[in-house]
Amino acid sequence: MLKTITKKIIDRSTDEFFKFEFHCDRCGAGWESDTYCFEHGFPEKLTEGEQRAKNIMWKVEHDAALERANLEARLRFNQCNSCGRIICDECFAMDEDEDLCIDCAKQ
Ligand SMILES: [Zn+2]
Ligand SMILES: [Zn+2]
Repeated sequence: MLKTITKKIIDRSTDEFFKFEFHCDRCGAGWESDTYCFEHGFPEKLTEGEQRAKNIMWKVEHDAALERANLEARLRFNQCNSCGRIICDECFAMDEDEDLCIDCAKQ
């Protein structure tokens, strides 16, 4: 598994598409990435070899999709300069000069 920007993510990927839910490190609010389709169509009934090929392609596309979702998430979330947590807008101290979460801004 690739390193994701938030500590908690939920992988909502299936056989047909890839989707990831990222959760704010502070309050746990969720944000869902775009849905990326699994590009390779396979027939319903697969031989063992085809199944293996499908699994490999799925894994490659899954990792690529996760990397894209991670970049997307980086734009949605903010990083606190003090504690380093990845936080949603609700947890971000908007009125501070520095990028801080509301916990660190209070200190
Ligand atoms: Zn939050
Ligand atoms: Zn902080």
